[in-house]
This record gives sequence, C-alpha cells and structure tokens, in this order.
Amino acid sequence: MALIVQKYGGTSVGDLSRIRNVARRVARTLQEGNEVVVVVSAMAGETDRLIQLAYQVNDNPDLREYDALISTGEQMSVALLALALQSMGIPAKSFLGPQVRILTDDGFSQARIQKVEVQRLRKELRAGVTPVVAGFQGVDRDGNITTLGRGGSDTTGVALAAALQAEVCEIYTDVEGVYTTDPNICPEARKLSHITYDEMMELASLGAKVLQIRAVEFAKKFNIPIHVRSSFSDKNGTLVIKEDEKMERVLVSGVTYNKSEARITVVRVPDKPGIASRIFTPISDAHIVVDMIIQNSSADGYTDLTFTVPKADFKKALKLVKRTAEEIKAQEVLADENIAKVSIVGAGMRSHAGVASKMFTALAKENINILMISTSEIKISCVVEAKYGELAARVLHQAFGLDKGELRKES
Ligand code: ASP
Ligand code: MG
Repeated sequence: MALIVQKYGGTSVGDLSRIRNVARRVARTLQEGNEVVVVVSAMAGETDRLIQLAYQVNDNPDLREYDALISTGEQMSVALLALALQSMGIPAKSFLGPQVRILTDDGFSQARIQKVEVQRLRKELRAGVTPVVAGFQGVDRDGNITTLGRGGSDTTGVALAAALQAEVCEIYTDVEGVYTTDPNICPEARKLSHITYDEMMELASLGAKVLQIRAVEFAKKFNIPIHVRSSFSDKNGTLVIKEDEKMERVLVSGVTYNKSEARITVVRVPDKPGIASRIFTPISDAHIVVDMIIQNSSADGYTDLTFTVPKADFKKALKLVKRTAEEIKAQEVLADENIAKVSIVGAGMRSHAGVASKMFTALAKENINILMISTSEIKISCVVEAKYGELAARVLHQAFGLDKGELRKES
C-alpha cells in the first residue's frame, strides 16, 4: 500500500462537476489500494476575486487581513470536495492549514513553511478517513493565518508529501505535463516523460507556470518525486525527479520564451570600484529583481553597463538609474522595452561543450541578432528583439531536436 499526495489546482476544482471528477479520481486511487492525502487550491478565479475585493476596500491592505481573506478560497474547495467524497460513500474530512498545523514564518502573503505536523493526518488515515487539506495556507507561531504566495498550493502538496514520506506527489493541472516548449508558440512541442529538479527550477524561474518554484526546491531537498499530470486525462504526465546515471542525458530538454523583461543601459560609466554598487543598491532597495547584467572591460576608463528588470518595475527602475547616472556622470541612459528572452535548459550542458555555439549558429542562420547573453550551469539565455522572440524559440526547438521523438520519448 502506497501513500500518495494528490494536489488539485484551481481549474481541476473549477466547478461542481469538476469537483465530482476529482472525487472519482481520489476514489479510484483508493480502490487501487493506496492511501491518499488530497490538497486542493481554490476554485479557478476565486483567489483573484478575493484579492480584488481587498483592494476595493483598501488600496494598501494590511497583509495580515489580506491573508485572512485570500486564504478563504481554499476553505470552500476542501469542504466541497470532502462533501463530494462523502456522497460517494468515502469517509473524508477537510482540514485547513492551521488545523493540520502547517507552521510558517510570519511573512504574510509570501510565508515560508517551517514545519508540518502530521500526527492528526496519520490518525485520520489509520481510521480509514481521507484528509482533504487546504493548499496555500498555514499559521504562524502567534496563530495568525498566513499564505504561501501565488501558486502556493503546489508547495503545500510537496511539503505534506515530504512530511508524510509519501511515495509521490501528484500535481493535477489542466495541461498534460511539462512540455519541451510552449505549444501555443510551437505546435511541435512535446510532453517530456521526465525532467530533473534542477531543470524544472530553471524552467519555473524562466516563467513556466506549471509549478511553483518553491515546490520544486522542496521536492529536491527531500527527494520527493513530483508527477505533473492532467486531471482530465488518464495519460501519464511528466515526472520531476533527481538526476541519476541511468537517466538518458539529453543536451537540452526545454526552450522558453518570454517578453516580461525590459533592458536598461547606462552608457559610459567610469570604470572604478563602487560604481556597480551605486547603480544597483537603490534598485534592490526598491525590491526590484534584476535578471541579466552585462558589463564589459574598458579600454579608456569607461564602460557600458546593461541589465534587465521585469517590465512591471521598469519605470521605477529607470527613474532610479537616471538619478544615479547623473551623480556618477555617466553619459546617458538607454531603455528598451521591445525585447524577448529565449532560453535553453538542459542538465546535459554540464558535461557537453558546444551547446552555446550551436544555439548562436541556429539564431544566426535566421539572421536573428543577439542583444545579450547569460548562462548558468544548465541554462543559456539570449535577449533578442521582441519581434524575433517566437521565431527564435521555434528555431532552437528544432535545432536541438526537441521536435523529434528521439529524446526522452513520450511515455
Ligand atoms: N489559490 C492560490 C492561488 O491562486 C494558490 C494556488 O492556486 O496554488 O494562487
Ligand atoms: Mg494554482
């Protein structure tokens, strides 16, 4: 008998017929001889609706009350699912974060899980009851309700799986798994049968929405396999697992593309100690996350410094940089919102040369100019003009053979 944690996202519990569909899936997993702990998100759209309500009464909501409000979406869906299960003759009970005791820090709206108590859940399981746990919420030391950041039910699922030493954490969503690239951009995109934790973290940080990045970090730390799959189909999805020797080493397992960043260049900054610190400190003090940074060595005592920030923070960042540029007597500040970032991710890059040059050659063949480049151990990103972004993604998808069946075959 295996213990399985099943987490169902907002679209999977989006209306009553979908909640019944989830109940049938849970019932089937029980019939197959497993124990199940279910985690659910709020019904699709509900958390957004609650957030809007908060801002309608107060444009700068106190985060304690904000969390008390936006965590209620999950209270509704756990009770409805427990009722649906009971109506099928399956003993089930709903639990909120504080009832389980999912202990977090007090970082309201972005709280981190510190400890998950499992005694109560174990007791219910022993009594043959299937617990249905609210995702996204916990409680701090003082008993305040907290939430884990948007998409946080994934993290609840994985944290429970870790604490209960479950065999797997199944994450049910509205897509069939993790794809080699966005199927909306590239019809040849294929579902991956498996992917490593590190690759998944890179993809999540590049904007793939399938999993909350913190959930993957948690899964890696406790070595919990995650199975991303659709609640509307019986097909296997994508396993997110530890890298091991037996795994086929593919060079590149995914290509991502996003237009969410903008570029700022400070032209002719004096090349001396403390300058980068003066430029970036006001930006980080404003809680703006800088992504790529490029600075070249200088020939004449001056250098250009280019970096990217989220478009949402672009205006604020530009204002701060312009002020600093004047102070340090840089020549000018250039700004560009018309950019896209294309990236390739693959664990095989660690041990293979030539991946970068293959990427650059593929882009060159299409006459796509590269504006910026950055790399990590298992990722290479290029910034290109926005109008070439989608083309670049398709070209790379093909260049690395992701459109063909030869790598990590679909199971
Ligand atoms: N309901 C929360 C949200 O919409 C948590 C989740 O769905 O994972 O962000
Ligand atoms: Mg969600």
